[in-house]
Amino acid sequence: MVGVVAVWRCKCGLRVKVVAEADTHQPPSRKVVASCPKCGEPRILHAEKIVSVTELIDFALSASA
Ligand SMILES: [Zn+2]
Repeated sequence: MVGVVAVWRCKCGLRVKVVAEADTHQPPSRKVVASCPKCGEPRILHAEKIVSVTELIDFALSASA
């Protein structure tokens, strides 16, 4: 198993960070669905399982706000 990290900006404006696990011995055919913790918007990832879904805090932005 290897760790997979995916980050994207959701349509609600939240930056979502997902940590997942993937099996390097298998073709990337499996899909898991991570949901935005704020609005629930689903996002399909190629991985075995989701480890965590968190909001990515941008400290540079929050410091200047
Ligand atoms: Zn969202």
